[in-house]
Amino acid sequence: MPIALHPGSFDPPTFGHLDLVTRGRKLFDTVHVVVAVNSRKSPIFSAEERVELFRRSVEWAGIDGVEFHSWDGLTVDLARKLSATVLLRGLRQSGDFEAEQSIALMNRRLAPGIETVYLASREEHLGLTSTLVRDIARLGGDVSSFVPPPVVEALRERFRRST
Ligand code: ADP
Repeated sequence: MPIALHPGSFDPPTFGHLDLVTRGRKLFDTVHVVVAVNSRKSPIFSAEERVELFRRSVEWAGIDGVEFHSWDGLTVDLARKLSATVLLRGLRQSGDFEAEQSIALMNRRLAPGIETVYLASREEHLGLTSTLVRDIARLGGDVSSFVPPPVVEALRERFRRST
């Protein structure tokens, strides 16, 4: 079975991401989760924290065959380094498609031997984005149905109110 890379911001990892990794493991030998260091966004968690949160979430879910990296280079360069031939991404609503399509086309130009594979989101995760989770947590809302327990705890710490 091929080796896959699952790249993303994961700020923070959600049940949507965890589901992609779970289903990805049925298709691929190893899934390498790659946290983008990404200087264009201002993440609330550092790359190291995001790796740690994803790792603890995967442990909590009992998924094996998943490895973790943070990376500030081209995704396809890391894929080559790890002998991965698949980039695993998810599709929620139609808006995802346009963004994903341009990334996939560009990656194919850069590395013709590497294929992008999309998994359709589960219905219950269709509206789930890291951005919404951050906003809800920032305002003190309950995010426990959107993110695994280690992430719930980390968000609570991050947005702990001083009142
Ligand atoms: P990026 O900033 O690179 O888009 P994200 O962390 O937002 O990174 O997402 C990483 C990948 O996971 C993307 O392919 C995205 O479409 C997918 N994804 C995110 N949330 C969900 C979800 N709720 N269901 C399915 N796929 C998702």
